[in-house]
Amino acid sequence: MTIIVKKQRVAESLIRIVEKKAEVSLDRCYQCKKCSVGCPVADRTESPPSEIIRRLQLGAGEELLKTDLIWTCLSCETCYARCPNEINFAAVIDALRSIALEKGLAKPKGNPPLFNRLFLNTVKAFGRAYDLQMIALYKIRTGNIRQDMAKFPAMIKKGKMALLSPSGADRRKVRRIFNHLPENKGTTK
Ligand code: SF4
Ligand code: SF4
Repeated sequence: MTIIVKKQRVAESLIRIVEKKAEVSLDRCYQCKKCSVGCPVADRTESPPSEIIRRLQLGAGEELLKTDLIWTCLSCETCYARCPNEINFAAVIDALRSIALEKGLAKPKGNPPLFNRLFLNTVKAFGRAYDLQMIALYKIRTGNIRQDMAKFPAMIKKGKMALLSPSGADRRKVRRIFNHLPENKGTTK
């Protein structure tokens, strides 16, 4: 695959900003590609994890902040677990997300910040994720109520989504954790 890098002159290179934010050293990556082979969304993205790192090493600039993996990454940390150099690529993605949002360059499909907020709100309210409420609210807020509705009965039937709210979690303990987070991050607005 041909990698196109448009080097841009910026005060501090993107790779160094990412390394600082993610607390990783990307110079240690020797492109073994174990991260990309294990990534569950690699085949759905323009640039899998190892390629993102290579582009950063080669001096990629703000164009990298528009790459789709930033928003399709599931934060599963498989890449981190597989990396022989213990490079936390999930943290790299978090850093790229935050830089993209700061610079107003985020081009995600859908509305990931809203999705993230609704997800955290259900965890805060129920002590764990409540998919049905989260997805229903997301669809109402984004006006996509009908999208994927045909899949809903099969998901219920196969037990992929529960109708009732989750029980069993220590809600008060989880809420205390949220209340101790700086600015109660993610659940506001
Ligand atoms: S954390 Fe993201 S990039 Fe890493 S394996 Fe999971 S989905 Fe892929
Ligand atoms: S697994 Fe680690 S060393 Fe290998 S390509 Fe991915 S980040 Fe680089």
